[in-house]
Amino acid sequence: MISSINKIYNVGLYIRLSREDDDKTLESESITNQKSLLLQYVKENNLRVYDIYTDDGYSGTNFDRPDFNRLLKDIELGKINMVITKDMSRLGRDYIGTGNLIEKYFPKHNVRYIAVTDNIDTFLDSSNNDIAPFKAIMNDMYAKDISKKIKSSLKAKMKEGKWVGGRTPFGYNQDKDDKNHLVINEEQAIVVKRIFDMCLEGLSFFKIAKQLTNEGVKTPAQYYNFEWKNNYNLKYGQWHSKTIRDILTNRMYIGDMIQNKRSKVNYKVKKVIRNDPNNYIVVENTHKAIIDKETFYEVQMRIPKNKGRNEKKEIHLLDGLLYCGNCGHRISIQSRRKRDNRCYTICNYYRTYMKQKLCTTHSNNYDELEKVIVKSLTEMCLNYINKDKIESNVLNNLDEDNKVNNIKELEMLTNDIRQINDNLDVIYIDKLNKKITEEQFERVKLKLENELATKQNRYDVLNDNINENVNEESKNKMIREYIKKFLSMKELSRELIINLIDKIEVFENKTVNIMVNFN
Ligand SMILES: [Zn+2]
Repeated sequence: MISSINKIYNVGLYIRLSREDDDKTLESESITNQKSLLLQYVKENNLRVYDIYTDDGYSGTNFDRPDFNRLLKDIELGKINMVITKDMSRLGRDYIGTGNLIEKYFPKHNVRYIAVTDNIDTFLDSSNNDIAPFKAIMNDMYAKDISKKIKSSLKAKMKEGKWVGGRTPFGYNQDKDDKNHLVINEEQAIVVKRIFDMCLEGLSFFKIAKQLTNEGVKTPAQYYNFEWKNNYNLKYGQWHSKTIRDILTNRMYIGDMIQNKRSKVNYKVKKVIRNDPNNYIVVENTHKAIIDKETFYEVQMRIPKNKGRNEKKEIHLLDGLLYCGNCGHRISIQSRRKRDNRCYTICNYYRTYMKQKLCTTHSNNYDELEKVIVKSLTEMCLNYINKDKIESNVLNNLDEDNKVNNIKELEMLTNDIRQINDNLDVIYIDKLNKKITEEQFERVKLKLENELATKQNRYDVLNDNINENVNEESKNKMIREYIKKFLSMKELSRELIINLIDKIEVFENKTVNIMVNFN
């Protein structure tokens, strides 16, 4: 029991849930649990709660969290004189920051701090309080360690087909009995099914979005805000074409688990990078499908680049790649005429608004057009290969040298950063042991932190550079493969053509402009 004699406490309850905790699958860290524990505590101790401050999804290694800042503000305004958290790691996992708060900031503002499950109360002369700084160090090490563990354990779980993301895909919920399993949310699944049906009926993303918005169908964002953030202020939401597209292309709906789409750079930096689709982790049949495979793949066929492709119809090499050079609309390839077994191209815009004459026919004998385009593409590929040979001889050596130097520097920086972090640990402990004075500590700490920031910046720049180069290289390598395949193939495939060509503009004067993926 807390003796609150002679003093009235206005309490700020601080709650933090981070990504780290998500993975621990520790139910005890959830917002609701932290909240009920804290409320229980204040009730038992007859304390008055001024406000509850909640940061959802913020890491403890960083103090830049919105509600944490609000808490500090209210302390400074004198509105609270007591802060309670479930345990110390809720405050932060960075020991210098946490230590500073407990040892300096709180005392300076006459704030009493309590970490319930750690048994820490800064106003009590308890032996537990002595371990506070060390607990802070532990928390920092825990954060470093856990970030490594998270990465590997997350991947292991993904490979087992276990759901490890936070926000479930629209149409699914986490299974109450197994957090890593998805179950269908019937209310949302109906909407998902409708979207697929509407697509099969031939409605564009935009039209689907418009219709759902007009009907006032709840958007994924609205559900998300309501269920995860406990606010549901928007009555009607706007559906967007992109949401529709994301839903129509999400393989999760046929029961397959697709994860590892993004990854984090390191544990102290928030930056998240998008992964290459080749690195996605896919496990089939992990949960109940909302959409049957047939429907799903039928829909994939209809999505723009493949628009107009139909199993029964003849498949043309250039299906979906032709655009009108004059009006920018798609050019379609009409079915073969029985009369002369020929097929012709036509500008869609012209065809739709024939009377208004908004464009011209753009009529070409398709087979002739295809020949011309394949011939030009062959020339472009040969040119590329020749140019590539010359360039790669000159540039490769330069690039290689650069790369080796960059990697060397990166290694040195990693060492330096580790060393500085170690030194910070040492001076902090020296300060605790009174080997150095507060002033000495502050001076050295400032110097080290500046150094750390400079090195970390340089590290980020180099790292980004290297990653970019790797991506560029692997892209070039793939293109070279495609080109070689293309040049050696007798029977051309549409799949290969799509990998090489972005789009082809056809002009009324019979000229064409081929936009390729390489140059
Ligand atoms: Zn046109």
